[in-house]
Amino acid sequence: MAFVNEISPEEREGLSNLYSKISSERSRRILHVNSEVRKSLRDFFIGEGFYELSPVILGPVTDPLNHPVSDASINYYGHKYGLTQSMIFHKQIALLSYEKLFIFSPNVRLEPLDRQATGRHLAEFSQLDVEVRDFSKDDAISLAERMYCFVIEQVRKSCAEDLEFFGRALSVPHIPFRRYDYSLAKERYGEEFEASLSENHKDPFFIENVALLDREFYDREMEERPGILSDMDMVYPEGFGEALSGGEREYQLERIIDRIKKKGQTFEQFKYYLEVARMGLPRSAGFGIGIERLVRYVLGLRNIEDATLFPKVIGKFSL
Ligand code: AMP
Ligand code: MG
Repeated sequence: MAFVNEISPEEREGLSNLYSKISSERSRRILHVNSEVRKSLRDFFIGEGFYELSPVILGPVTDPLNHPVSDASINYYGHKYGLTQSMIFHKQIALLSYEKLFIFSPNVRLEPLDRQATGRHLAEFSQLDVEVRDFSKDDAISLAERMYCFVIEQVRKSCAEDLEFFGRALSVPHIPFRRYDYSLAKERYGEEFEASLSENHKDPFFIENVALLDREFYDREMEERPGILSDMDMVYPEGFGEALSGGEREYQLERIIDRIKKKGQTFEQFKYYLEVARMGLPRSAGFGIGIERLVRYVLGLRNIEDATLFPKVIGKFSL
C-alpha cells in the first residue's frame, strides 16, 4: 500500500482495540441492548400517535448549546452549514406539519477535552428528540416518565440474558418520579447537587425550573417566576447523572429576541430561525434523551464509549 500515508501508532492501536472490542461477546450483547432500546422507544412513540421525522444532519442554524464546543461547519457553494448539535429549531418548525414528533437524531458536538473523563460524553451521539404542540412542561415530564417505564419493562423482557451477563437488575419505578426545584436543590445540596442527588437515588428523578442563564435561550421563561424557566432534566440514579433535558419553548418572536439578548448572543447566528419565528411558530414542549447514555445506564457501564460500536471519543482517534 505504498500509495497511502503511514497510519500512526496511535491510530493503529485505536483500530486494533476496536477490532477486538467489536468481535467480543460483550460487544454483541451491548449492541443487542442498544438495538432493543431503540426498538422499544420507537414502539412507545408510535403507540402514542407520534410521527417519526428524518434527521437533519446539516443546516444553516443549530442548537447554540450552553457550553463551548469546537466549530463543526463547512462551506458549500457559498453557504455556511453546521453539523447538527441538536434539532431543537427544526423540530419546533416541523410541528407546523404535525403535532407529535420524534427523531433519532445524530448530533455532533465537538466537546472540550475536560469532558472526556465524565464517562457520559461523546463527540457524536444519538439524541431521541421529541416535541409536541401545545404541550406543557408537566405534560413533557409525564411523557418522559411513561417512556422510561415502557423501555425498562420491554428491555427486561427482551434482554433478560444480557442483563444477567452484566449483573444488572433493573426495576420499573413508580410514577410520578420525584421532583426537585433547581434553585432549592442548589441551595440545599450545593453546586454539585445534581451529581450528589444522582449518587443518592435508586430511581430516576427530575430537577425542574432551571435558572434563566443556566440554559439556552429557547426554553420558556415562566410568566409567574421571571428569571426561571419552565424546563427540566431527568437524572439517572446510582451516579449516572443527566438522562434528558426538556421543557416548554419560547415561540413568540419578541420573547425569543429578548432571550437572545439576555444570553449576549448575536442575531446573525440565528437569522434563519428568527425569520421563520417571524412567520409564526407553534407553542410546544418536548425533550431530548441521549441513547448511548440510556444504554450505559441500563447495563451499568462505566463508560459511554462502550454503549455503541463506533464511539467518537473526545480527543482520541476513533473510526
Ligand atoms: P442537552 O439538550 O444538551 O441536554 O442534550 C440532550 C441529551 O443528550 C442529554 O440529556 C444527554 O442525554 C445527551 N447528550 C448531550 N450531550 C452529550 C454528549 N456529548 N454525549 C452523549 N450524550 C449527550
Ligand atoms: Mg442537558
